Amino acid sequence: MNIPMVDLKEQYAQLKDEISENMLAALEAAQFILGPNVQAFEKEAADYLGVKHCIGVASGTDALHLALVAAGIGQGDEVITTPFTFIATAEAIAYVGATPVFVDIDKDTFNIDLAQVEAAITDKTRAVIPVHIFGQPVDMNALKTLCDAKNLKIVEDCAQSFGAHINGKQTGSFADAGAFSFFPSKNLGGYGDGGLISTNSDKMAEDIRVLRNHGSTKQYHHTVIGYNSRLDELQAVILRTKLKHIDNYNNNRRRVDETYKAMLADTDIQMPLDNGTGHHVYHQYTCLHPQRDKIMQALRDKNIACAIYYPIPLHKQDVFAADCKDTVLPVTDSVVQNCFSLPVYPELSEDKIKIITDTIKTAL
Ligand SMILES: *Cc1c(COP(=O)(O)O)cnc(C)c1O
Repeated sequence: MNIPMVDLKEQYAQLKDEISENMLAALEAAQFILGPNVQAFEKEAADYLGVKHCIGVASGTDALHLALVAAGIGQGDEVITTPFTFIATAEAIAYVGATPVFVDIDKDTFNIDLAQVEAAITDKTRAVIPVHIFGQPVDMNALKTLCDAKNLKIVEDCAQSFGAHINGKQTGSFADAGAFSFFPSKNLGGYGDGGLISTNSDKMAEDIRVLRNHGSTKQYHHTVIGYNSRLDELQAVILRTKLKHIDNYNNNRRRVDETYKAMLADTDIQMPLDNGTGHHVYHQYTCLHPQRDKIMQALRDKNIACAIYYPIPLHKQDVFAADCKDTVLPVTDSVVQNCFSLPVYPELSEDKIKIITDTIKTAL
């Protein structure tokens, strides 16, 4: 038996008829750029997230980038963020000519430490990008209070948190903007690249619509230098189909969490914390243990996938290391030495979880 990190084939098998029908209709309608499915998906996503506007873009990376442009962040500005994330979070900051400032994380949630954010604010700081890492919401109410007092913008990186919420208020609805990714393995995944920006600001929404479409409000009239960054019509078909199932998918990820916790209760592994700040949607199932190499080898020997998210924090990546030589982040350093991620996906069965956890217990 082979257990993958995520099983996209099994999910497709369940959706096949629904997807085939919707996809054929879109192919026959032949409106491939900013067509009716993109418009409908933007509306449906805005309703789901509880925001005024959603704008589909080409990727999660572009969603972060265009949100920063629309927020007015640029050359000479500092943007505070976490080093324990995918590179795209910081790339977007660099694209607009600003400087990423990495601060340490919380050892239990792996999210940015808000006390460290406050301590890192200088007179150049213009924005913060919190990442709801692995699907665990950052305490957005506390971050918003802090940023409002200092007049800082917030762009939420929601690439891993579609459907995560705090008392019913969705991630992506707290701040100036939220940036979502529909990379195939994300909780809401397309069949290719895609992204979305959520915002309650009419002005930002209007500016982003212009930016994603070559800086034009009217065809062949260009007011600013924009980008070719539109959500693809065929991806919108897939995403509309899957959006109907997202709560079910996320609830099943939470079922997997409960099963892992029950089956590994008698080990000393640090399991993902569901700390009560919000509703965790377990995009990744990241644990800590000093003998993680031994655990991972035992899993691989049995064809069970596992991975390290993330092996190198961003302040130590070659591309940023020279600018970060004075950045010392002890919690992040300790987490990257001990973290490992187990398979998590909505279709993961109890039988398979038992095989995974038995393998881990034997190894320990
Ligand atoms: C996936 C991801 C992104 C980038 O999304 P793409 O759609 O791949 O461009 C950004 N930030 C985080 C935290 C991610 O996990």
